[in-house]
Amino acid sequence: MVVPQSWCRGGDGGMNALTAFDKAPPDPYSRAAMPAPLRLTVDLDALAANWRAFARAAGGAACGAAVKADAYGLGARGVVERLAREGCRDFFVATWDEAAALGALPAGCRLAVLHGLTTSDVEATRATDARPVLNTPAQAALWREVGDGRSCDAMVDTGMNRLGLAPAEAGAVLAGLALDTLHGHLACADEPGHPMNERQRSAFAVVADAVPAQRRAFANSAGVLLGESFRFDLVRPGLGLYGGCPSPLAKGLLRPVARPSALVLQVREVEPGDSVGYGATWIAARPSRIAVVNLGYADGYLRAFGAGGRMLAGGVACPIVGRVSMDLTAVDVTDADVIEGDWLDVDYDLPTMSAVTGLSQYELLTSLGSRYERRYA
Ligand SMILES: *Cc1c(COP(=O)(O)O)cnc(C)c1O
Repeated sequence: MVVPQSWCRGGDGGMNALTAFDKAPPDPYSRAAMPAPLRLTVDLDALAANWRAFARAAGGAACGAAVKADAYGLGARGVVERLAREGCRDFFVATWDEAAALGALPAGCRLAVLHGLTTSDVEATRATDARPVLNTPAQAALWREVGDGRSCDAMVDTGMNRLGLAPAEAGAVLAGLALDTLHGHLACADEPGHPMNERQRSAFAVVADAVPAQRRAFANSAGVLLGESFRFDLVRPGLGLYGGCPSPLAKGLLRPVARPSALVLQVREVEPGDSVGYGATWIAARPSRIAVVNLGYADGYLRAFGAGGRMLAGGVACPIVGRVSMDLTAVDVTDADVIEGDWLDVDYDLPTMSAVTGLSQYELLTSLGSRYERRYA
């Protein structure tokens, strides 16, 4: 009897694989030990240099680090450990989930949870020393009830209309709470000339005078560079630490930190007139060598990157050709010396890629996905 081959199972091989799978369920952690065909190299020395650049720029203010979203995709644990060695003491995550994932912090370091807390977070707050950043009257009331006098932070909204207490209500809402840090956040810090910056700064200075907190924190990466009056006691850079260029004022200040690279699975020769990839959108104009690499849009390497995207083979820039697939990308390596098994560096210069794709540098970092083997160098 002929057994019809199913596309999904890939015929007999698929059935065997399924049987093996039934016998030995995969260990969810085993992937970490497997050599992955794509890597994200995180240059911790560059990260440390960037933090020191912000610490210097912060002048008399202390310099913390925003490590939310797994340190913008680079791995919060490794980032926190290295920055703690540089002298960073204040870290910021978005949620209690992220706080728990970080585990115990290095000695002397402290964590604040930017999104505050809900009733479902109460247990989590008891398992750590992290402080909630209270954003609403309801969060403040809840913390008054369940905080047992533990210290907390609060965020004041000075015109961005994102999270935070209204300046007029902050004093009454926070009265009597053990306030560690009072925060504000800039909406337009990446545009140094924007009138909103000074409007927000002066509104924050007024609340900061009226509400008794041990420290006041206002500036993100771009805000640090706006001048002394924006820095208050503590600054909270994120993007710039990870090699993004947060503002025109940061030119030349920061080093790239994240370097994706991918394995060449196949190199093929194509003739003039041959097409490459889905939709046959790229047609060879000359005899060409095409490297097919283990990287695709499921790794954050979006189809939009095909136009203008490049990979680097020993310093030679090789253009992406055709459509980026889910797990594969084709690169024209005719002018480079590339063989199967080589690794190509993905050109992921954040400001350039942002200009090419229209995505923000924040999106470019946080969309890299989970299939990379993150390596610290
Ligand atoms: C994310 C975030 C930061 C860091 O901002 P960058 O622009 O990445 O430097 C600082 N403060 C708050 C409240 C944030 O949400």
